[in-house]
Amino acid sequence: MSAVTTRFAPSPTGHLHLGHAHSALFGWQAARRAQGRFLLRIEDIDPGRCRADFERDLLEDLAWLGLRWETPVRRQSEHADDYRAALARLEDAGLVYPCFCTRKDIAAEIARAGHAPHGPDGPLYPGTCRTRSAAERDRRRDAGDAFALRLDVRRAMERAGPLRWHDRGRGWQDATPQILGDVVLARKDTPTSYHLSVTVDDALQGVTLVTRGEDLFFATHLHRLLQALLGLPAPEWHHHGLLTDERGVRLAKRDGARSLRTLRAAGHTPAEVRAMAGFPDAG
Ligand code: GLU
Repeated sequence: MSAVTTRFAPSPTGHLHLGHAHSALFGWQAARRAQGRFLLRIEDIDPGRCRADFERDLLEDLAWLGLRWETPVRRQSEHADDYRAALARLEDAGLVYPCFCTRKDIAAEIARAGHAPHGPDGPLYPGTCRTRSAAERDRRRDAGDAFALRLDVRRAMERAGPLRWHDRGRGWQDATPQILGDVVLARKDTPTSYHLSVTVDDALQGVTLVTRGEDLFFATHLHRLLQALLGLPAPEWHHHGLLTDERGVRLAKRDGARSLRTLRAAGHTPAEVRAMAGFPDAG
């Protein structure tokens, strides 16, 4: 196996825009420069938001842009068993607990406490369900109450010990997953989450360099912890900057004007679109 394997991992929830092109080209170029492998993964665990036509269109857009990837493409919706097995390991190790709180319960608990530690994504889960007795958990589960499975991050960190991870742009980082709190790893009806499936998949696909936007920089602290708990190898990371519009606002799928399809329909060539995405020399 060659030394560097990267991947692009879009969710088929809309059409790809220049920001996705930047991210895909970033990973593709890193692999190419190292004569490594470039993989594709479809992150479609959310059936409510993902659509087969978006997946078909994004494959077509990436090929039009000039990207080539190894097959088979990994589609997350086909691998629930892998995520279930990883979750079971964490549950068996006593690192996961069921949380029956609704969003409203969480907001009320935070208001009652008068303060809440904040993480990069907002207030942290206040831990209401962490200390529920086994009997109460069983009773509520048996009653059919909806629940999420949360990671007991403090206990998990104690188990794993100190961890570090390396970003090619920003150097070594001490892992501080507690800044995200007790994150949700799965739900009663969805046996996985972004964090769990991405960690499992990067390992199963043999990814050695995870390239993605810097909006996911903090998530990497948690992914490093999950790797350690699951006995998975740690890759290297390279988080890249995000493309913004002329007002400095990050591009989003709703910005149809910059979708690759719109640019293509307007007559732009793949080379022009690669240049707009920040890669004038790729191709
Ligand atoms: N599926 C994620 C997204 O579309 C990317 C996840 C990753 O690269 O780790 O934002």
